[in-house]
Amino acid sequence: MENITANEIAGLGVGALLLAAALATPKVDAFIARGQRRKLNLCMECGGVTRIPCMRCKSRGTLNQNIFSLEGSSKPTTCPACRGKGNFPCPSCCENN
Ligand SMILES: [Zn+2]
Ligand SMILES: [Zn+2]
Repeated sequence: MENITANEIAGLGVGALLLAAALATPKVDAFIARGQRRKLNLCMECGGVTRIPCMRCKSRGTLNQNIFSLEGSSKPTTCPACRGKGNFPCPSCCENN
């Protein structure tokens, strides 16, 4: 019976470790990503892509304006935030270009 108990305790321990790892993974990923970027001399903001996706239009470049339209027609308009490009030049590494 002691073996079963030991296995159960081991199982609980592994379960707790897995749970802790699952909870910590996003933070660890972000930490590693930032560390790798720094190590590779990549931009901390964009990771060397030099582009930041537009949050306003979700990188589509157009906005669906039907919510604001009185006619009820849904004609997509060019996103004013990114001017239809869907992304921005990275402010961190592109401002001198
Ligand atoms: Zn946009
Ligand atoms: Zn950048």
